[in-house]
Amino acid sequence: MNKKTLKDIDVQGKTVLVRCDFNVPLDKEGNITDDNRITSSLPTINYLLENGASLILMSHLGRPNGEPNPNYSLKVVSERLSELLNKNVIFEDCDKIVDEKVKEDAANLKAGEVMLLQNTRYRKEETKNGEEFAKELSSLADLYVNDAFGTAHRAHASNAGVCKYLPSAVGLLIEKELDVMGGALENPKRPLTAILGGAKVSDKISVIENLMNIADNIIIGGGMMYTFLKAQGYNVGTSLLEEDKIELAKNLLLKAEEKNVKLFLPKDTVVAKEFKNDTEFFTVDVDKIPEGYMGLDIGEKTIVKFKQVIDESKTIIWNGPLGVFEMSNFAKGTNSIARFIAENKNAVSIIGGGDSAAAVEKIGLASEITHISTGGGASLEFLEGKILPGIDAVDNK
Ligand code: AMP
Repeated sequence: MNKKTLKDIDVQGKTVLVRCDFNVPLDKEGNITDDNRITSSLPTINYLLENGASLILMSHLGRPNGEPNPNYSLKVVSERLSELLNKNVIFEDCDKIVDEKVKEDAANLKAGEVMLLQNTRYRKEETKNGEEFAKELSSLADLYVNDAFGTAHRAHASNAGVCKYLPSAVGLLIEKELDVMGGALENPKRPLTAILGGAKVSDKISVIENLMNIADNIIIGGGMMYTFLKAQGYNVGTSLLEEDKIELAKNLLLKAEEKNVKLFLPKDTVVAKEFKNDTEFFTVDVDKIPEGYMGLDIGEKTIVKFKQVIDESKTIIWNGPLGVFEMSNFAKGTNSIARFIAENKNAVSIIGGGDSAAAVEKIGLASEITHISTGGGASLEFLEGKILPGIDAVDNK
């Protein structure tokens, strides 16, 4: 990797500004329901503390739309972080994020001490990559470390902007994301299989196109499979269909053939009359979807075929559920695929964040996966072959 990492900077006695991804899910009472994102930040935080730095941490949480909003305060995060680090975290509950008091506290910070700023999205300038805000943030520290992979696909003041004003490096989490995903794309163990699901073809076009240049096999499931089936001439009943993407699906099928990529579409599908769990459902071959029925999952024959492809793969990249996995009657396809990936011990397995990560966690197999990305949107853009501006802005080696 050409970006500076923690090993390339000397942090002894320095104040380091660290962009973390503490955008944790909260319940209605404002309690953290999953602290995975906080624990994922610990390796970088601990490394910097052990190497003699004082830390000023920052993150966004939710979408307060550029205004202070107590529902999105990072106070809960400071409390959880304090428990995990077993040390006091100085929480700067400042609506402006940076003011004279915050500056003074930052200047008095001693090696080993940790400060957390308030939600950076309380300021409108954050998502606009405002120069003044970036300057205010960087004035607090000597060095900057970006460890928020989840926002790396955005150029915001707290990730890209601050790189203009401070020497910078990526943290251990981003380094790992780039090593594993970059390695899989640049120099994969073959065969490389990409499994793509989710609701819409339109969201995944660029990923499919980019992976077409890299993968040996592409498996397609989820809501978007019906547009491909329609492109092959099948009737898809009331299944999710993007009429305006049928031509594109045809082109992608042709391109796969040209490039010698094996593109696997489902052979059978679970159908129902209504989009709900408690409804009559049954499995049909894809050429027999009845009028008035919608496909909500892949069928048994498809599961068997996909298993064979997964078993023979040495690298597996998965993004997007194969069916409506939120409803138990239509979760079998997604859960089976998650299990097959976890069971293949010969493969490097990578799961883009979001729904696929949730599915593998729900069935308790997350620890069997080589790498679960902490950034849904960021990992998708990485798989599209795009440059991530939050990482691009960091100093080169
Ligand atoms: P995405 O955010 O694009 O990855 O899409 C995830 C969503 O796709 C999930 O909420 C799934 O319920 C949905 N999905 C998967 N398969 C289908 C399907 N056959 N019909 C409708 N929605 C689906």
